[in-house]
Amino acid sequence: MKSARAKTPRRPALKKPPNSSLKDPVGVYCRVRPLSRPDQECCIEVINETTVQIHPPEGYRIFRNGEYRETQYSFKEVFGTLVVQKELFDVVAKPLVEDLIRGKNGLLFTYGVTGSGKTHTMTGSPGDGGLLPRCLDMIFNSIGPFQAKRFVFKLDDKNGVDVQCEVDALLERQKRDAMPVPKTPSGKRQIDPEFADMINVQDHCKVEEVDEDNVYSVFVSYIEIYNNYIYDLLEEAPFDPIKPKPPQSKILREDQNHNMYVTGCTEVEVKSTEEAFEVFWRGQKKRRIANTQLNRESSRSHSVFIIKLAQAPLDADGDNVLQEKEQITLSQLSLVDLAGSERTNRTKAEGNRLREAGNINQSLMTLRTCIEVLRENQMYGTNKMVPYRDSKLTHLFKNYFDGEGKVRMIVCVNPKAEDYEESLQVMRFAEMTQEVEVARPVDRPLCGLTPGRRFRNAAFREELSRKLEMRGGPINGETEEQSVSEMFLQNLPPLPSCELLDVNDDQTLPKLIEVLEKRHKLRQMLSEEFAKNVLAFKTMLQDFDSSVVSKENYIQGKLSEKEKTIAGQKTELERLEKKIKTLEYKIEILEKTATIYEEDKRNLQQELESQSQKLQRQASDKRRLEARLQGMVAETTMKWEKECERRVAAKQLEMQNKLWVKDEKLKQLKAIVTEPKNEKPERPSRERDREKPVQRSVSPSPVPPPSNFTTQVAESQRLASNPQVHRRSNSCSSISVASCVMEWEQKTPSHKHTSGTPNARSRQQEPGQSRDYNASDRRRGMCWTGVIEVPRRRDELEIEEDQCCRGDVFKTRGGGQAVQFTEIETLKQESPTGRKRRSSPSDPDPPKDAADSEWTDVETRCSVAVEMRAGSTLGPGYQHHAQPKRRKP
Ligand code: ADP
Ligand code: MG
Repeated sequence: MKSARAKTPRRPALKKPPNSSLKDPVGVYCRVRPLSRPDQECCIEVINETTVQIHPPEGYRIFRNGEYRETQYSFKEVFGTLVVQKELFDVVAKPLVEDLIRGKNGLLFTYGVTGSGKTHTMTGSPGDGGLLPRCLDMIFNSIGPFQAKRFVFKLDDKNGVDVQCEVDALLERQKRDAMPVPKTPSGKRQIDPEFADMINVQDHCKVEEVDEDNVYSVFVSYIEIYNNYIYDLLEEAPFDPIKPKPPQSKILREDQNHNMYVTGCTEVEVKSTEEAFEVFWRGQKKRRIANTQLNRESSRSHSVFIIKLAQAPLDADGDNVLQEKEQITLSQLSLVDLAGSERTNRTKAEGNRLREAGNINQSLMTLRTCIEVLRENQMYGTNKMVPYRDSKLTHLFKNYFDGEGKVRMIVCVNPKAEDYEESLQVMRFAEMTQEVEVARPVDRPLCGLTPGRRFRNAAFREELSRKLEMRGGPINGETEEQSVSEMFLQNLPPLPSCELLDVNDDQTLPKLIEVLEKRHKLRQMLSEEFAKNVLAFKTMLQDFDSSVVSKENYIQGKLSEKEKTIAGQKTELERLEKKIKTLEYKIEILEKTATIYEEDKRNLQQELESQSQKLQRQASDKRRLEARLQGMVAETTMKWEKECERRVAAKQLEMQNKLWVKDEKLKQLKAIVTEPKNEKPERPSRERDREKPVQRSVSPSPVPPPSNFTTQVAESQRLASNPQVHRRSNSCSSISVASCVMEWEQKTPSHKHTSGTPNARSRQQEPGQSRDYNASDRRRGMCWTGVIEVPRRRDELEIEEDQCCRGDVFKTRGGGQAVQFTEIETLKQESPTGRKRRSSPSDPDPPKDAADSEWTDVETRCSVAVEMRAGSTLGPGYQHHAQPKRRKP
């Protein structure tokens, strides 16, 4: 059969979180236990230090595309069957213990199916201690000499820790010792032979850089999570052999640092590895008892052994613990032996057991889900909620994944064929777990006291006792004093009986005298000795005194030196302070100036902005004006061009008219002279008249405008300088030239006044104007019969007079045209200078024709004639302004 090696399925590349440098992946290690029997089939092989290969066992082989599939899994490190506990401890657990002593949290758990060696790895087997006893050993090896007295640290019920002075701690110790139960296990007790060889670790492994200026205390607690209930394995409950009570479950809470803890959980302060392991063993025993009594299976529960390490710095003297709660660091290491990860059906669980198994699997499932969600969140930057609360197990360790700490997992696998499928699941989960990252714990802050306090204090004490010993040793309290006096009394010769029974007794008294003499001698000796001692003591004291004096002198000298230095430094300090003040003052002034300048700058900027806006506005105004002016110029140019054209045409017409009139006159005169009057010819129809070009007489050109007119009114003047327009008939009622003249007259009132005949100039001032106008209108039809104007200049300078002959033009029989005069109209025109007058109604004696002699213009009239003929061709806006002619009454 061809075997193909399949690599672990490739996973998408990790999307690094922003602060990836401060995060560490979960350390996942794999331990392959040896087979129980050498004849068992093996399906797991260790390929190298980081890779294991798993293949399906015989008879279980999966054929996929005809290929025998092997899968490799990579971990941080893989430990084969020959790897001993110490090796595993050094790699996996040692860094966690080091972290614990440095005040950082850690979590270590074993994961795998039942029988894969989880408990063996965590707790160990007789004679082969696991990670737990090794961790304890390393902790106590490291902090042993720096441990605080019992009860100096006190854990509170909110996952916190308090510190108290040694005297209070002593009092509490005495109080506890007086109590019958529970008693804290004594370190001096005989070790339980049951586990003695498990903790007999000869390695003496220890953390190298322990802060010697701290004092430490270790607390342990041991809990079990079974069926998603938490039980305290160290709880001392009175045992009722008749009706054993089921253990009470505990609840989880979150402390102020967001760490989860079991409320009311027993936490025992331990001072040695033995003591700690004894506590653990007690919990183990209790667990076993509960399992038996409640018919539980131990492999279905998770056990959590929590080691808490409290540490606080020594005071400045290095003598006592600093009594500051903020200075205490509490770190914890959780050692978890998880329940078997196998599926329920494998163990053929029934009834109650099945439910338990379900729950256990449920909590492991939750662990898997949490890890998966965490991984997903970290890889893809999502923010899915991690379901920590779904199980007590994950909820308890929430802070390790969410907060900070080091997390390590040992995947235990049994290479036997029966476990193949389960092992595969375990491997997959384990490989996924190592993609989760956990925030690296930060170093705790330093207390700020001088390092080496403990060492200095110890050296000082040693020196003191040595010195005292040299000088006769210290008086060791009352008891010693008592024994010396007692000894002295015992050494004195005993007094004989002083009873005199006989008068002649001559022995008793001499004996007494002898003993008393001896005692006297002894007393003398003693007093001499005492005097000598006193003398010696005196000299010693004197010596001591002199040395003290010399030291004092020396110290005084030093002190004065220091004082001098201090004084110098003080003056320097003062100087610097003054300088600082001056500089501060300067800074203040500068700041003020700066603010003023800034204010100015702001104002100026605002001004600049407003000015530039103004400029822009002006520029745009200018542009607009220019455009308007250009438009106006163009318009005016066009207007005047048209006007010129019109005038030229009018002039031409006028000339033609003149010619025609002359011709006609001549013809008529000829006809009058030569022929007798014929019958009146048929008057041509109006339409026909209209078709014909109307010919008119032309008024003489007006007098040029006076020179004193301003250039501004040049145009209007020019218009006005043309004789005031008077149209006999028109089809358009608006005013052009004449109105311009009117305008001009209104604009130049001085001129009007100087003229002396203002009424004559303004038609509106003439009474009866409107009536005349209407009359003129009524006669409009007449106008088209024909007009001949005979210019007659009465006075070259002052008055221009036009005679207008009105008559009917009709065709003669001979093919020519005849004019029959019906009216003669005299038009007078006065120069705008005012010297010329025209007739007005106010005139006392107006000339006969004066009423009709309105200001008129031949050109305009001609233009009207043209207009009438070709009125439709003139566009709108081409306005003709004509004053209705005043008719002769
Ligand atoms: P688990 O806790 O995973 O159910 P155990 O730790 O109880 O499994 O192991 C079951 C048995 O296998 C124990 O008797 C243990 O001594 C043995 N064992 C496990 N791992 C090893 C190992 N690495 N070397 C030797 N024996 C082992
Ligand atoms: Mg186990």
